[in-house]
Amino acid sequence: MIRYQTVSKTFPTGGGVRDLTLEIPTGKITALVGPSGSGKSTALKLVNGLLAPSDGTLCIQGIPQKEWNPIELRRSVGYVPQNGALFPHMTVLENVTLPQEILLGASNPRISQAKNLPEKRFRRATHALKQVELDSTEFGNRYPHQLSGGQKQRVAVARTLVTDPKIILLDEPFSALDPLTRKRMQILLTKLHKELGFTSIVVTHDVAEAFAVADYAAVMDRGRLVESGDLQSLANNPQSAYLQELLAHTQQQSQHLQTELGEP
Ligand code: ADP
Ligand code: MG
Repeated sequence: MIRYQTVSKTFPTGGGVRDLTLEIPTGKITALVGPSGSGKSTALKLVNGLLAPSDGTLCIQGIPQKEWNPIELRRSVGYVPQNGALFPHMTVLENVTLPQEILLGASNPRISQAKNLPEKRFRRATHALKQVELDSTEFGNRYPHQLSGGQKQRVAVARTLVTDPKIILLDEPFSALDPLTRKRMQILLTKLHKELGFTSIVVTHDVAEAFAVADYAAVMDRGRLVESGDLQSLANNPQSAYLQELLAHTQQQSQHLQTELGEP
């Protein structure tokens, strides 16, 4: 489904991704973890065509990224960017409908047209909001600043669903949310995944989050893949210093929490 074969993406200023060889299991959620600046966002943006490989081949559904029609690629690959990135001057329904306007062959993709949504697109957007458990009557005409952090991320997820993508990429989607909202979003993501069966890559720094949503994980450091595989096996026998530290930190945190709660 998604196969990186010695893929590099270099920037004139350094950084990027080096020699990445990785197969993302089809129909599963893969957690992509690594310290800040390790190339995680770059690796994601290569999949939906926001960036092109400088070297190597990245195949998406068997077709090299460079051979994909860019519109077709965006339609097949849903993307929730690092900050959700809703358009502040557009309502929830307009935000959610936008990919259909742009990617599904609208005759006039002007944003103003979204005020008179064609019936079919309106229905699809309403359905997408329902899929993320938001009532379109209540939320459809609100602007992003009238939503909570969790609701904004729900809208960002709904926006990816309207083109029925086979692949959904999420870049630290829930990291700014409070723990309970975060938990609810993780449950929502796994529920959607069970229903729709897409292939997904979720960038996260949180081992608990990785375990909550993913079966498989890849660890990056300084632009390179350091280890990948079944998440449980990686956690049982971490090879990289980064993953060892991350696991130790998570354990410390949960012990701290248990002490605070007075549990054994
Ligand atoms: P991560 O998401 O793991 O924090 P990124 O993929 O965003 O890391 O960035 C990896 C490295 O590539 C960083 O050192 C960053 O400065 C560099 N980089 C990322 N995008 C660009 C860009 N568009 N132009 C120049 N350098 C970039
Ligand atoms: Mg990033």
